[in-house]
Amino acid sequence: MRTGQRRVAVVLALATGAWPAACSGPEPADLVLWGGIVRTMDEAISTASAVAVRDGRIIYVGDDAGASGLVGGDTEVVELAGRMVLPGFHDTHVHPASGGIELGDCDLNPADTRADVLRIVGECAARAPEGAWVRGGGWQLPLFPDGAPSKELLDSLVPDRPAYLTSADAHSAWVNSLALETAAVTATTPDPPPDGIVVRATDGSPQGTLRESAMGLVGRHVPAHTAAEVGAGLERGLAMAAEFGITTVHEASADESFLRAYAEVERAGSLTARAIVSLRVDPSRGTEQVSELVALRDGYGSELVRPVAAKVFLDGVIEGGTAALLEPYVDRPGWRGEINVPANMLPALVAALDSAGFKVHIHAIGDRAIRAALDAIEERRARDGGAGPRHILAHIQLFDPADVPRFAELGVVASFQPLWAYEDSYIRDLTEPRLGPARSRWLYPIRSLVESGAVVAAGSDWSVTSMNPLLAMETAIRRVNPRLDEGEAWLPEERVTLDQIVRAYTVGGALAADMETETGTVSVGKLGDLVVLERDLYAIDPTEISDVRVDVTVLEGRVVYRRPAG
Ligand SMILES: [Zn+2]
Repeated sequence: MRTGQRRVAVVLALATGAWPAACSGPEPADLVLWGGIVRTMDEAISTASAVAVRDGRIIYVGDDAGASGLVGGDTEVVELAGRMVLPGFHDTHVHPASGGIELGDCDLNPADTRADVLRIVGECAARAPEGAWVRGGGWQLPLFPDGAPSKELLDSLVPDRPAYLTSADAHSAWVNSLALETAAVTATTPDPPPDGIVVRATDGSPQGTLRESAMGLVGRHVPAHTAAEVGAGLERGLAMAAEFGITTVHEASADESFLRAYAEVERAGSLTARAIVSLRVDPSRGTEQVSELVALRDGYGSELVRPVAAKVFLDGVIEGGTAALLEPYVDRPGWRGEINVPANMLPALVAALDSAGFKVHIHAIGDRAIRAALDAIEERRARDGGAGPRHILAHIQLFDPADVPRFAELGVVASFQPLWAYEDSYIRDLTEPRLGPARSRWLYPIRSLVESGAVVAAGSDWSVTSMNPLLAMETAIRRVNPRLDEGEAWLPEERVTLDQIVRAYTVGGALAADMETETGTVSVGKLGDLVVLERDLYAIDPTEISDVRVDVTVLEGRVVYRRPAG
């Protein structure tokens, strides 16, 4: 009797007719995990104690006695010793490549204070080769007044070469005087359409922060990353995903250089997650670009790398005053933000992408952006009945409550970043004051979406915030900062249950990928995507969920991560 096996196991099914006729019994499995608590996340949320995988697919879910008949000489056996097994996690909005590249640049993500930011920038300046740009990102908006650090501050750290540092949300860039000079951005440079903002000093000169499309004024002068840098970045991002039990990523924004990197990593045998790749759509161009995206999909697709989605960036962020709102910002009368795609173009673009078979993955933050996206999808659906792939709205921060039921009605996936749903300085200082209390009630209404019957999925948007799904799960359940375990729940009516948030990371993710028959539950016949957690999430206090670590990650029966001992 193996330790930890104390639960009544449910034998779900044995693949019938799959066994060879030989009298030596069934063909052995490649991988067997036993002696634990397997939460299948299927409709009944059954539990079992063992699971077996052969040729990449699950062939058995049940008790240990049944699994023992599948252990042969070459079978890899994982003794669970009471640990928990879940379907591999799906991160439905993440940037493994660009986030990983950022880790190799001047990485400001670890900086929790302004002093930390300044120290790290100083170190980067000292380290960068002479004459090279200091580039990188990950600084937090709330660390600077109005989320706008000045060029003078950056000049004091990097006086002798241009510097370009993007914010953690990637919607702003902090630049120094030499960078502005190199790009010839001056007091007379207009704010670039449709949504660019050059933050200005009182005399009209650039203050040092650029928002949205104004980032490109300087950004296009920053040297591009080499193929080797992109590949190394992707490997860093994927290694992190494996460490967090993520077996499917939705690469949220890719161009051809990223696709090349994915192909390279797959060829090298180091692809540790399946990737649903969203190809970047240029909002300034029309439907003529769809054929180019089709060519990329045809040229780079494989079983594990699926460039089947198209990313449309609809608006900015509330903190920067760039999200598209139905009613004006409280602090800026008359201003409602802009939609990036020209009026009337969005329905045509969505229709063209949908009819070419693309999953449209839409960045929508403000209630006006959410409505515009739903309207465009509804228009298309009226024509084809929704026969194409499921479309995804990501971030979905601010809702008009009238739009909540439309996700279920239209079959649109609601992809939340649950780690954003607690009251931090972004919410308290930069978001709620701009919206007022009535609208602020409808920030990240995860429970309302779950109860509406919508497909709810979840993602990290890493490198914007941590990729760790367990941090995000605890936040969705408690709506407090999962790292501090204190304070009142923020909008407590929108808290979800453990089942609901685990389903978002598993079944919901599989639906978002249009792969619900292949992954998302631990079921016989599905792909062997599994995660082993050190503790059973259902047996601990919710405050402890974020501390639980991933011990083993399995992609299609292949162990792609094992936590080092100690
Ligand atoms: Zn993103």
